Amino acid sequence: MLFIPRILKDIALIFTANGKLIFLVGGAVRDMLRGEKARDFDLATDATPEEVAAMFHALGRGAKRSAVIPTGVKHGTVTVHFKGEAFEITTFRTEADYNDGRHPERVAYAATIEEDLSRRDFTMNAIAVELPKGRVVDPFNGRADLQNRVIRCVGSPRERFGEDGLRSLRCVRFASQLGFSIDNETLAAIPQTLSITAKVAAERKRDELDKIIGSGKPSTGFSLMEQTGLLLELLPELAACRDIEQKGGHRFDVLDHLLLACDFAAEKGWSHEVRLAALFHDIGKPVVCAMNEFGVRTFYRHERESAAMAKNILSRFRYPNAVIDAVVHLIEEHMFQYTEDWSDAAVRRFVVRVGEARLPNLYKLRHADAFGTAGEPPRPDFLIPLMDRVRRVLDGKKALSLKDLAISGDDIIGLGVRPGPRIGIILGELLDAVLDDPELNAKEKLLEIAGKMKDRA
Ligand code: ATP
Ligand code: MG
Repeated sequence: MLFIPRILKDIALIFTANGKLIFLVGGAVRDMLRGEKARDFDLATDATPEEVAAMFHALGRGAKRSAVIPTGVKHGTVTVHFKGEAFEITTFRTEADYNDGRHPERVAYAATIEEDLSRRDFTMNAIAVELPKGRVVDPFNGRADLQNRVIRCVGSPRERFGEDGLRSLRCVRFASQLGFSIDNETLAAIPQTLSITAKVAAERKRDELDKIIGSGKPSTGFSLMEQTGLLLELLPELAACRDIEQKGGHRFDVLDHLLLACDFAAEKGWSHEVRLAALFHDIGKPVVCAMNEFGVRTFYRHERESAAMAKNILSRFRYPNAVIDAVVHLIEEHMFQYTEDWSDAAVRRFVVRVGEARLPNLYKLRHADAFGTAGEPPRPDFLIPLMDRVRRVLDGKKALSLKDLAISGDDIIGLGVRPGPRIGIILGELLDAVLDDPELNAKEKLLEIAGKMKDRA
């Protein structure tokens, strides 16, 4: 018997008092049956959205803390805020929202919970629990599949994936998140419906990719994508990394290298940005790949090509600009080769180029990169010599940006330079000089240098 949280019983009593049925459905049921904590509660009812709204309004003062928001009335959904929690409540439906770019958005109400469950994607997602008592409604044997850790379509996989191209991607996403296998017939239908997946809006695909990348072992999802053709459809640049062999300590082809790096970042619980950078950091290698005179493959300037391609991919999936900038910057900078003979000026330039705030993520990316190269964790201290040097530079409080300079734009204007872009150029050159020799960061000295620059112009 499932344990039903108090708050679900409370909300359910409002429905039963009004003669309506109310079921817990979707991910919450799946997660509770797996013995995991449910995150968000989706409820299904035979009451229409208008009836739901009326029930909660009728509660009056006593339930002051409840509110009904018409979040998706055209899909039959309202969000109810009740005792500090939010519930998505959807009237029984016959149709899912098709994601095939062909069907108009529409909603048709269903009479029974069984009918509602039959429109859902996978058997494990098509189990309902009647509230408040906890009777389980499981017409497609979802519990058996959960027990066996199998993802299986409700009904004909070919038809279900053909109706909605997002479902095949959800299928591999769930496999990656849950570590479940995919039933053979369900798996076999994915390559047959790629043209439907192609029509799905970029944002919807991105949300699934994000969940794969956010899973404990993203390579599970990406390998399934490769196997089914989804990778070639969505991320052809990544698919092209298969069989690009590399030398120099590399044990894997470029694709496996990238997947291992991404897995390492996931295993460490690192941020999405680091995971994305790990996944794409060498994606330009197939493009820049060349043969040198010794017959050895080279990948000169691959970080530049990889950064440009990552930018393109992330924009295609409509990632926010802040994410794109951060990931692209990490990829551009990932090839630093620190040796002890770097001068302090070189360390300062490195810090300025990367940006202090972004250093921790760059270190993480290099750890992930090293893991993907060797297939085993790098020595935890392998970046310590550089990190120590950087720390010393930062502690030294030397000028690292224009605002740290001992003079400002106004001082340059004071020298008789007319306000305009020239001021910025001069300040930039002064910072360059100060990065080389911090002793120069004094007002008189900088004014003197600036004076010469001015005359030179
Ligand atoms: P999670 O919230 O962890 O992503 P979930 O199963 O709750 O998993 P939602 O996208 O929140 O996924 O959807 C809730 C439920 O709605 C699913 O469990 C499933 O029953 C149904 N569903 C969602 N998307 C589809 C779809 N594209 N086709 C058919 N049914 C769907
Ligand atoms: Mg959900």
